[in-house]
Amino acid sequence: MKKIEDCARNARMHGLNMKLMHISALNQETRKTHAERHGVLFTPEQARLFWSNRENQRNCRCSVTLVMVDEAGRTIIPEITERARAAYEMYNKRYGFN
Ligand SMILES: [Zn+2]
Repeated sequence: MKKIEDCARNARMHGLNMKLMHISALNQETRKTHAERHGVLFTPEQARLFWSNRENQRNCRCSVTLVMVDEAGRTIIPEITERARAAYEMYNKRYGFN
């Protein structure tokens, strides 16, 4: 949660449009609801809401990284989220959530 607050404060301070990209551990213990967020961009408020749920905090190995976005909220460097989503797709094939 401190990382989310730090990211939000830094973005405001520098006048940057930033979002947080969810990074999941993508291992055998990863819950479906956490894995599905891998590579998805969230506002600090959305990230806070997710982890405010105690069930989501329990044994969670996920993290977030700060990503610069345009006025529409899309990442300036699409490859960042594309690579993360590709990793999720490989993980999903291996562990078969669908
Ligand atoms: Zn998690």
